[in-house]
Amino acid sequence: LHVAVIGSGGREHALCDSIAQSPLCNKLFAIPGNAGIRACARVVENIQSHETEKIVEFCKQNKVNFVVVGPETPLVEGLVDKLTEAGIAAFGPHSRAALLEGSKVWMKQFLKKWKIPTARYECFRSSQLAKSYVEKQQFPLVIKANGLAAGKGVIIAEDKTTADQAIVSMLDETVFGSASTEIVIEEYLKGEELSFFALVDGLTVVPFGSAQDHKRAFEQDLGPNTGGMGAYSPSPLCTEALENEIIQTILNPTVQGMMKEGRPYRGILYCGLMLTKDGPKVLEYNVRFGDPECQVICPRLKSDLLQVLYKVATGRTKDLKIEWNDNLWSLVVIMASQGYPGAYKKGTVIQHLEEASKIKGVKIYHSGTDLSPTGEWIATGGRVLGITGIGHSIQQARDKAYAAIEQIQWPQGFYRKDIGWKCLNLETG
Ligand code: ATP
Repeated sequence: LHVAVIGSGGREHALCDSIAQSPLCNKLFAIPGNAGIRACARVVENIQSHETEKIVEFCKQNKVNFVVVGPETPLVEGLVDKLTEAGIAAFGPHSRAALLEGSKVWMKQFLKKWKIPTARYECFRSSQLAKSYVEKQQFPLVIKANGLAAGKGVIIAEDKTTADQAIVSMLDETVFGSASTEIVIEEYLKGEELSFFALVDGLTVVPFGSAQDHKRAFEQDLGPNTGGMGAYSPSPLCTEALENEIIQTILNPTVQGMMKEGRPYRGILYCGLMLTKDGPKVLEYNVRFGDPECQVICPRLKSDLLQVLYKVATGRTKDLKIEWNDNLWSLVVIMASQGYPGAYKKGTVIQHLEEASKIKGVKIYHSGTDLSPTGEWIATGGRVLGITGIGHSIQQARDKAYAAIEQIQWPQGFYRKDIGWKCLNLETG
């Protein structure tokens, strides 16, 4: 196969790294990719992931016959629709099905219609109506912008003042542009969060592992929300019984509902779940691999990732068996530029990456780096590196990741020292 992976983050580095190892892979492009991805794919820097027409044209000219789409925006905007029209196989849902992530209002209505467990909610376009609704509710309340807001469109309001501020900034000041002309206000759910992944081919649901992530910037889960500061996989919360419950009560009805609505889902379905005392409930759907969750799923996989993705994309999941490397755990720690998720300085130098990557059981995925003309690694993004440790226990995976970080010299970077703490508490009882 001639493959192109769309996107430029650590997720796409992990996908490219695994795909490049497949005997089915004859050529691998990353559009636009990043400097770290150059080690395993040809990067096409002059095309961005939202440039649909250019991507289709590039694929035709370079005889690409399989495209794996990393980020959500091109999926919601219809990249897979256009590739399919051009006769190019693509992994990821069509825009009609990507609405599961693209519109929270639509997603909540869909869940209600098909009786899939989720938080109680109401939708609003008018700030006045939203504010008077909030008056009669108990706190905390969760206020969400309808559209894609890069993980920043969710406010957990502990009181009426915070709720009103969020309502006004989203609906009246439209801080997220067209993504916040409508909002969802929903009940706050208590419990542990779990990410559960499934490969879906129209109707077949193939479980693809679980993970837990750390969204907050600072230790003890404090500070602002980020794209994710670390993750581990599998989650010890995800027992076989829970997995079956998730498939029965959430995944199967979702996939069947999508089919009945004429929006068959194909690709990876990422369920963000809250494990409440009344069972798992859907917080959100993502229509793509998570970043950084992908960096802990890929290294555990024994099956050929490219073959798996190609089978799902081309509707041949009947004989699909996913094999994992036995008893392997993985844990990723994100190294970010100081200041992230706010403003940060670009162009700072990172040293001793090569030494760190030589540690056995360590994979370093790049999400925001470049190589200077003199061959030094420099930081160019908010999240810059994903340091993944792989081991026979979560502790071992964690020790490897942090041993690698100790080798890396980057005074202008920061990372959380407590990735995996919840899991380790569980393991030690
Ligand atoms: P992302 O795609 O970055 O994960 P998002 O913008 O799609 O985020 P959600 O996943 O819906 O937003 O919410 C972000 C976080 O807010 C969740 O991971 C969870 O911690 C919290 N959250 C969302 N909804 C609820 C809820 N009803 N009750 C409790 N916490 C919630």
